[in-house]
Amino acid sequence: QPYGVNQLRKMFLEFFESKGHLAMKSFSLVPHNDKSLLLINSGMAPLKPYFTGQEIPPRKRVTTCQKCIRTGDIENVGKTARHGTFFEMLGNFSFGDYFKEEAIAWSWEFLTEVVGLDPDRLYPSVYLEDDEAFEIWNKKMGIPAERIFKFGKEDNFWEHGSGPCGPCSEIYYDRGEKYGCGREDCTVGCECDRYMEIWNNVFTQFDNDGKGHYEELEQKNIDTGMGLERLASVVQDVDSIFDVDTIKALRDHVCRLAKVEYGKDENTDVSIRVITDHIRSVTFMISDGIMPSNEGRGYVLRRLLRRACRHGRLLNIEGNFLPELALTVIEGSKDGYPELEEKKDFILNVIAKEEEQFNKTIDQGLGILSDMIKEMEEKGTKTLSGDETFRLYDTYGFPIDLTKEILEEKGMDVDEEGFHAAMEVQRQTARAARGVTNYMGADVTVYESIDPSITSTFVGYENLTCVSEI
Ligand code: ATP
Ligand code: MG
Ligand code: MG
Ligand code: MG
Repeated sequence: QPYGVNQLRKMFLEFFESKGHLAMKSFSLVPHNDKSLLLINSGMAPLKPYFTGQEIPPRKRVTTCQKCIRTGDIENVGKTARHGTFFEMLGNFSFGDYFKEEAIAWSWEFLTEVVGLDPDRLYPSVYLEDDEAFEIWNKKMGIPAERIFKFGKEDNFWEHGSGPCGPCSEIYYDRGEKYGCGREDCTVGCECDRYMEIWNNVFTQFDNDGKGHYEELEQKNIDTGMGLERLASVVQDVDSIFDVDTIKALRDHVCRLAKVEYGKDENTDVSIRVITDHIRSVTFMISDGIMPSNEGRGYVLRRLLRRACRHGRLLNIEGNFLPELALTVIEGSKDGYPELEEKKDFILNVIAKEEEQFNKTIDQGLGILSDMIKEMEEKGTKTLSGDETFRLYDTYGFPIDLTKEILEEKGMDVDEEGFHAAMEVQRQTARAARGVTNYMGADVTVYESIDPSITSTFVGYENLTCVSEI
């Protein structure tokens, strides 16, 4: 019986506790005092103040399993074996304590001895200028030089916006030929899913001031991140992160609702995986107090939820189905995240309300959009006008990304500038009519009935442009 997701999370934290680390609870998905980030996207993100020395960490060695959202990966979701918009990142951190040698040795020990992965299937990579890390893998760990890959900045130099950054060393797992793309030169670093990146060890030596200026940090740090779902997928020897125990249970639930079998048709499977992924994001985001809205994080949430609804339509699922799935998310993850269970009713209520609201207009909207597409095909135009895109948004609740995505499937796009212009006109009109400044455009009022105290967390939204940056 291979280790389950919940078991692996515990094993990781306990292993690093045995190496002197303090195990801390996952931080909220909502960044605290960090304007550079819309949503937490790594284990390191909420620990930034400890890395920069702004705050004193409770211990110099910390380990976490951090909830993460990466909407930047949204187009990969359902298509690769390894990407979710939501995932859990296991990490061990050193704030000016141990450095490369210990980090590398422990990651190897955990993978090969604790979890029992076959060392012959594991391949490390290093930043091409990082001779120190190369030597450690080669001389200290005894990995033959030809098994250590050297990559450039885009892969092996870790950096997300401003703050601590540095060279990294990734660990890849060869899942076998059947997952390969079949190309002659397919090897570690290939975009296909044969050699799956499971762990990234970042050696934080520099601080980026956000303007491209790097300063050597006074104290060198270690920041590592391993996707729990990816680890589970190689440990359980399954096809993708959607086949590991807890996520498979959710995927099976989607299949039951859609009355389809998984693995029969690729398009159907993509929709199943998209829903499976998005409902995890949605459930966790709401448990952290994020509410659907038209701005910032709330917009990300709304977009994910409505995208899941639309894929539900593609699978011919009728009626509201998302709260039921959220319940399965909660069941599968409450072990690691008791807040899911505590906020269960609230989460289900928010999802039910948002889904009901969108369901009222989605079929009409989809019908109108398909008429628009037909008309465009007849006229030979490829771009939907800003006004029409805005009408779909304003009257039928279609986030612009959803409209864009549906059009892209037909090789078409939208006039984004025109859309934003139409939106601005409406904002001005509404503002003038009310005579007060709009609450950052967020239509939170619909949800105030659920729990008024929650709306008090609606402060400091970054503007919409951030959405595309994560
Ligand atoms: P990839 O190249 O596969 O997109 P990455 O290099 O962007 O991964 P990192 O930023 O290095 O990922 O994050 C550290 C670890 O987090 C990865 O090694 C992986 O195990 C996990 N991870 C990253 N993105 C995702 C995702 N979208 N879904 C699931 N796990 C992820
Ligand atoms: Mg990535
Ligand atoms: Mg990578
Ligand atoms: Mg990486």
